Amino acid sequence: MLYFDHNATTPLSPRAKAAWLEAVDRFPGNPSSPHRIGARADAALSEARERLAGILGCSPLDIVWTSGASESSNTLFHHVASSRADSEVWISAIEHPCVLESARHYVGPRLHLVPVTRGGVADLNWLHEQLQQRRPALVAIMAANNETGVIQPWREALAMCQEHGVPFFCDAVQWIGKLPASGIGACDFVAGSAHKFGGPRGVGFLKCPGKALIEPLIRGGPQEDRRRAGTENVAGVLAMLAALEEREGSSEHKQQQSWRDEFERELVTRLPGAAVVGAGQPRLWNTVSALMPETDCRQRWVVKLDKAGCAVSTGSACSSGKESPSHVLLAMGYSPSEAGRVLRFSSGLETTQKEWRILLDALTSVHAELVAT
Ligand code: PLP
Repeated sequence: MLYFDHNATTPLSPRAKAAWLEAVDRFPGNPSSPHRIGARADAALSEARERLAGILGCSPLDIVWTSGASESSNTLFHHVASSRADSEVWISAIEHPCVLESARHYVGPRLHLVPVTRGGVADLNWLHEQLQQRRPALVAIMAANNETGVIQPWREALAMCQEHGVPFFCDAVQWIGKLPASGIGACDFVAGSAHKFGGPRGVGFLKCPGKALIEPLIRGGPQEDRRRAGTENVAGVLAMLAALEEREGSSEHKQQQSWRDEFERELVTRLPGAAVVGAGQPRLWNTVSALMPETDCRQRWVVKLDKAGCAVSTGSACSSGKESPSHVLLAMGYSPSEAGRVLRFSSGLETTQKEWRILLDALTSVHAELVAT
């Protein structure tokens, strides 16, 4: 089976697996325990914190280990709701549901959506104009969109927010491990998740200002400087770092991007009516969001491609299988019926040119079948 759903989750990399197995043997203790076995686990966690801080460009004190980006995002909006109960919160209209829904839940009526362009990019003109008039409690713009792969102008948005003294949150889940993470630690808050770059599921982090008191979402023990209770997942954290360090050192994505580009060119040539969403915008090297010809609903495409040996997605994993059209595509100005024709293909570093070509042939055959029925 060819796997083209890396934006949903990635297989555990061999290096991460080895790091996890080594860690469970070497660090069996609880990092909070008073004996040497506990202290060794705590030291391993501190060392991992330094390594991640070095990659992101922030202080180790800024890192809080979490179970993943959904928890990181919920922690942040819970904190914002408890500490700044009056001001507005502005988030881009194309954020992942873990950002949109946690913001809706915790800050509800104070939430305003930053519009996006037809190309799927957060509208910085809107942000600039609004910042001249008001100061929100937080602005959130993701680093790269999980459905379209369109890269967002987070550096520019961060600079604007810094100029106006407004805290800035970047959901960097799809960026980290695909593009260099250096400098992203300059954002006040950053969410990351190991299973998007070859690490294990159920582990991630929230980068937040180390000196500020963060209102914990999960209460209990004093772990993580009282910012997140619960026994830390030492082996998960070490496996995440092993996966990330491997990805940070890799330059294979240039080759990957050329195969992806070849696939896109061929796709729109072979299937009349097909188009690439976000074409012309800087996009992640691994993602194709394709508006398919008006032959059938995308679920049938997915089922037929699955039978042909290719695992693809209709968009974000969270909304796959549901009937409601993607909020990302609607925000970009696509109609609900167009949004219902979009498929997502997302590769990994191990994907080969041959696999892209097999996927293209499978799409061509499925298209011919759908046209004939
Ligand atoms: N943010 C983005 C952009 C994502 O793609 C995802 C995963 O689908 C998440 C957040 C949620 O991450 P996690 O699975 O770690 O909760």
